Amino acid sequence: MNILLATDLVVDICAARPEAGARAARALALAERLGHRVWLYVGAVQALEAALVEALKAQGVTASDGAIRSRVRVLLKDFIRGKQWLAALAGEGDVFDAEDLGAAQLVAALARFADDDIVLLTGDERLLARQDPRIQTPADYTARFTTAERQAVDAFIDLKAQQDPLRPALEQGLHRVLHHGQYILGPEVATLEARLADYVGVEHCITAASGTDTLLIALMALGIGPGDEVITTPFTFIATGEMIAFIGARPVFVDIDPRTYNLDPTQIEAAIGPRTRAIMPVSLYGQCADMDAINAIAERHGLPVIEDAAQSFGATYRGRRSCGLSTVGSTSFFPAKPLGGYGEGGALFTDDAALAKAMREIRVHGQDRRYHHPRIGINGRLDTLQAAILLAKLDRFDWEVERRAEIGARYTAWIDAGCPGVVTPYIEPGATSVFAQYTVQVAKRDAVAQALGEAGIPTAVHYPIPLHGQPAFAGYGYRDGDFPVAEAAAQRVMSLPMHPDLSEREQRRIVEALTAAVCT
Ligand SMILES: *Cc1c(COP(=O)(O)O)cnc(C)c1O
Repeated sequence: MNILLATDLVVDICAARPEAGARAARALALAERLGHRVWLYVGAVQALEAALVEALKAQGVTASDGAIRSRVRVLLKDFIRGKQWLAALAGEGDVFDAEDLGAAQLVAALARFADDDIVLLTGDERLLARQDPRIQTPADYTARFTTAERQAVDAFIDLKAQQDPLRPALEQGLHRVLHHGQYILGPEVATLEARLADYVGVEHCITAASGTDTLLIALMALGIGPGDEVITTPFTFIATGEMIAFIGARPVFVDIDPRTYNLDPTQIEAAIGPRTRAIMPVSLYGQCADMDAINAIAERHGLPVIEDAAQSFGATYRGRRSCGLSTVGSTSFFPAKPLGGYGEGGALFTDDAALAKAMREIRVHGQDRRYHHPRIGINGRLDTLQAAILLAKLDRFDWEVERRAEIGARYTAWIDAGCPGVVTPYIEPGATSVFAQYTVQVAKRDAVAQALGEAGIPTAVHYPIPLHGQPAFAGYGYRDGDFPVAEAAAQRVMSLPMHPDLSEREQRRIVEALTAAVCT
C-alpha cells in the first residue's frame, strides 16, 4: 500500500500541532509497522516550506525570517528520512483550470497508483470534500488498518522494496534517456558494458536482449550448429538446453553433483565424442559450477566452455567472479535474477577479442558496419532504458550480494538447527553463492509447500522436470533413469523466499513455518 502525505499533515507533524500532529504521527507510525510506502510530492516542496514557516509564526515563534526558515529546513530534512519522493511528471503542471493548484496536482499524481493501492492522507477540508475514496484522514486510515491481519511475507522475490533506495538514481537515469532519445545502443549501454566488464574482471562485455539471446549468440559465435554436440546439465532452466537445440545441435546431458546441483565433472569426459563442440555448465542457484575441473577437461579436448551464469552474477569461485571463469560467461538481467533489471536483458563476458567481436556483430544482424553483414546474426540488443536501470541497480549491487550471503547463511543456520530432515544448500569451500534461489530438499514436498502457502509463505520448485524429461526434448531419445541424481533432485527441491530486502523477522517466520510443516 502507498501513502501520499498531503502538505497539511507534514506541517501538523513538523510543527507538532497538539492534536492533529499526534493523530498524523500515529497514522505514520502505523504505516511504518505495516510496511506501507510513504510518499511526499516533489511538486509541493516550496508550498511545504512556506506553510511550515507560517505555522511556526502562528505558534508565536519569534525570530528573523531567515532563522525560522533554517529551522524549517532542519525539521523537513529530518522528516523526509525513510520516505519516498514522488517526482512531479510532465502533465501534472496542466492544472490551471483548478481552484487550488496544489490540490489538483496531488490528485493528478494519485492516478499513477492502482486505485486500491493508494491513500492520500490529509486533514484538508477541500481535499476531503472531493468525496474521493482514495482521500482519507489519518483517523480513517488508522481505523481501517489497525485491525489488519499481520502481513504475510510480501513476495517470493520482492522487487518493490528494492526500488526505494534506488528511486532517485532510477528516475534520473530514465529521464536522461528520454531527453537524449538514443533508445538503441545509447551511451548508457556502453557505460554499463564497461562497468560490468570491470566488475567481472574481463576485457569484453557485450550486453544483449536476454539471458537466452546471450546463450544463442555465444553458441553462434563459436560456430556451433547442426550435427554438433554440446555437453550440458539436465538440471537447469529450459533456456540452456533449448538454445543448443535451437541452433540445431544436440544437447548431450551429463548428470549433476548431488551436493551442488551443478554438472558433475567426473562424468563429463565419458560424454565427449567426435562431434562435441563445447561444454556448457550452469552455475545453478547462484553458486558456480566446478569451473577449474571443467576447464581442465575442456582444455585436454580443445573445447570452449560457456558458463551459463544467469543465476550466479556476483558469485565468486576461488577468488574470481562468475562470468569470468571460462571462454565465455553468459548472464541474465531478468527481474528475478541477482542483478535483475525491470524487463529483459543479459550480458556476455570474454577475454577473447575475436570472440567478442563476433558476438558484438551477431547481436546486431551480423553486421560489422552499417548495412554490411559478413555473418548471420539476430536482433539481440539491450534497450538503452534498461541499461539506465541496470546502471542504477549496479550501484547497490555489492550491498545486495552481501545481504544475499547473510540471508542465505542465516537460513542455513536456523534450518540446520531446527528442521531435521531438510537438506540445506552446500556451498563449496572457496566459493560464495548469490543465492539466486535459496533451495532446500524436503521429503513430501507438496505437503510442505501447501502448509507454507497456508501460512502465507510462497515457495517455488526449480525445477520439477529435468530437461531430458521435457516433451520438447523427446526426440533426443533420453529415458527416465538416465540421470538419476537430477531426477531425484527434481522430486525434492523447494525454494524459499529470497531477496536482499528479506527481513530477519520474515525469515524467522518462514523457518518457523517450515519447521512446523516438516515436523507434523
Ligand atoms: C533465467 C535463465 C536463463 C535465461 O535468461 P532470460 O534472461 O530469462 O532469457 C538461462 N539460463 C538459466 C540457468 C536461467 O536461470
